[in-house]
Amino acid sequence: MKYANSVVELIGHTPLVKLQKVTEGIKATVLVKLEYLNPGGSIKDRIALKMIEQAEADGRLAPGGTIVEPTSGNTGVGLALVGQQKGYRCIFVVPDKVGEEKRAVLEAYGAEVVVTPTAVAPDSPQSYYGVSDRLVTEIPGAFKPDQFSNPGAPGSHYETTGPEIWADTDGKVTHVVIGAGTGGTITGTGRFLKEASSDRPEAEGGQVKVIGADPEGSVYSGGSGRPYFVEGVGEDMWPANYDKSVPDEVLAVTDAESFAMTRRLAREEGLLVGGSSGMAVVAALRVAKDLPEDAVVVVILPDSGRGYLAKIFNDDWMRSYGFLPGAEETTVGELLK
Ligand code: PMP
Repeated sequence: MKYANSVVELIGHTPLVKLQKVTEGIKATVLVKLEYLNPGGSIKDRIALKMIEQAEADGRLAPGGTIVEPTSGNTGVGLALVGQQKGYRCIFVVPDKVGEEKRAVLEAYGAEVVVTPTAVAPDSPQSYYGVSDRLVTEIPGAFKPDQFSNPGAPGSHYETTGPEIWADTDGKVTHVVIGAGTGGTITGTGRFLKEASSDRPEAEGGQVKVIGADPEGSVYSGGSGRPYFVEGVGEDMWPANYDKSVPDEVLAVTDAESFAMTRRLAREEGLLVGGSSGMAVVAALRVAKDLPEDAVVVVILPDSGRGYLAKIFNDDWMRSYGFLPGAEETTVGELLK
């Protein structure tokens, strides 16, 4: 009989699939890695598992312990899933701007959700960060993973995501394209692939090139941190887990380009993925168009499109922000004024 003892064992080992339609005119092979096939629906299951296992190993988390993290997104789902299976209480602190659906997912896994007001200063005790820090201090046995600085986040990608790409391409990958949010994925995966290929002769592709994909406006691609709509990627500060020495290049992609490609991936490739996936594919195609036939470009697609049906896949929403062709252009800056 072939089965897993817990859903946690099913984290990782995601497949690669070759893009067929959106790559028209491109000679190189472009492969996408489907992270939405993780049990919690995103790449963040990997870091949740690693951060929890490390905390157990070094005694920061013990039976009866509580996991507290300020997150509303994919990391919360990963921590809720792994935390529940390992018997920990999970508390997530989310700002009130986070939609009902996202809170409901965390609660469905049995996590507790504490909602904090958005309209307070970040250093206020009532803020999302203030409340999570207080809970960690006040609850005995509480542990805050902190995905922005926890070395287990890039560590999980160094130990799993990178080696999976190397093994599944038989060591032939030449370029990897990754969007950066906390920076954990690009740092861990990129570092592993660069090390694995450090002695590979130029005739066999040389050292793997790591390309960052970034929303236009974010600091990684030289922006000021101004707002954009793509979720989960880009930053307005430099997190500890982003190692600037890993990417060879970071390409800026606009919201309109990201969303148009996200919709094409669903319609033409059968891949219902999120906006950061569309963004990474735009950057990958920009790189791939000048590459020869023997180049192998791997792009990480972090999550599913299910969470974006009311936005990217909704024509009215797209039109209202000027993201559908022919619609009047409105900048994000103007909208948020
Ligand atoms: N895409 C999505 C949808 C995400 O939630 C995240 C995580 N913030 C990323 C991409 C980027 O991953 P990382 O934080 O490892 O840079």
